[in-house]
Amino acid sequence: MDETVKQGFTFVTHLECSMVGDSYEANQQHNLSKAGKPLLVKYDLTSLSNSLSREELAYRPENLWRYSEFLPVKYAENIVSLGESMTPLIHTPRLQSGNGNVYIKDEGRLPTGSFKARGLCVAVSMAKELGVTQIAMPTNGNAGAALAAYATRAGIETYIFCPEDTPQVNVREIAAQGGRVWLVNGLINDCGRIVEEGKENMDWFDFSTLKEPYRIEGKKTMGLELADQLGWQLPDVIFYPTGGGTGLIGMWKAFNEMKEIGWINGKLPRMVAVQATGCAPIVRAYEAGTEQAELWEGAHTVAAGIRVPVAIGDFLILRAVRKSNGFATAVADEQILAARDEVAQQEGILMCPEGAATYAAYKKELSSGRVDSAESVILFNCATGLKYELPPISRLLDCTQQPIDYSALLD
Ligand SMILES: *Cc1c(COP(=O)(O)O)cnc(C)c1O
Repeated sequence: MDETVKQGFTFVTHLECSMVGDSYEANQQHNLSKAGKPLLVKYDLTSLSNSLSREELAYRPENLWRYSEFLPVKYAENIVSLGESMTPLIHTPRLQSGNGNVYIKDEGRLPTGSFKARGLCVAVSMAKELGVTQIAMPTNGNAGAALAAYATRAGIETYIFCPEDTPQVNVREIAAQGGRVWLVNGLINDCGRIVEEGKENMDWFDFSTLKEPYRIEGKKTMGLELADQLGWQLPDVIFYPTGGGTGLIGMWKAFNEMKEIGWINGKLPRMVAVQATGCAPIVRAYEAGTEQAELWEGAHTVAAGIRVPVAIGDFLILRAVRKSNGFATAVADEQILAARDEVAQQEGILMCPEGAATYAAYKKELSSGRVDSAESVILFNCATGLKYELPPISRLLDCTQQPIDYSALLD
């Protein structure tokens, strides 16, 4: 157990409806607000900043729990951890076209191979603290895998529903880690409906994206960590592959909390929501100037993690994007796969398709002029590229043929 977590204490004051602003008591199980919108966790930031300094952080272990004052877990014994190490920020000069530095934040190093571990680590710890015994979740794969791992460790049962074309490795890892998993002949919103309609009878706690308040808090650590790693100087632009938007909303929350206590100053990064052209509800809403996004019919993309036709936090994503002076943009599957190859071959980093979408979007927006080559940029690689199918290699070298024609290897 991490000694940085104070026994029986948090700076959480209450929860608040992200739409209406009415407040809810902490220390209780909550899903959505009365208005049917996500709840956000509020902290006593003044007391927090009186008891913790940026300098003090430097002496702590390099993991997610170094930011425990910004997290909602009250009792250290409730922390369910699989070793959430800080993820590297890798400089990728070959992806740059000007002086602006480009970095990849490689979240594929986290437990279960994706940044879903950040959110589920904190959310499952809170579920344990609040006495939840059964959890149900719709997932495109990575969230289910992280949930299964952390919930199993916490002794909590899980019921997990995936669209039937979810990458097989995700479905199998969910099962392998003790989750009860089903394939569903529909999309993630259809899986969500199964959870919604079954939860009362089955006595499930609904862990759908943003329908429980603590996953955002875990994802928030991406924003804290970025500032920490960059010496409290944030980059100009962040490209984030956006499905349900937890990470984008969470980082934006972190930036604002840090700004409020003076840990960071000046302009916040421009937040760019990246989607695939086959499923781009946020981009469509951004362009239409609306506050909410309509359901995207017939969603399809190789980037399974961002195949989310409707997001309950749509207005929070759009607010962060607009307030930060960012934008939303979509790239085609061919561009995503070409970007994955390019990054792997130029920089030796195998991105997941969702991560590769951020590089494709960066290139697109450099040429559109919405991003300048002098701007410093962070691309989020949210999962290890090893979880996804790669082009097959069938070249066979016949070792019984003598002599071996080495010159043929040059082709
Ligand atoms: C879940 C997921 C995303 C989208 O993250 P959100 O914060 O829910 O928008 C992107 N990429 C990968 C690999 C994912 O698993």
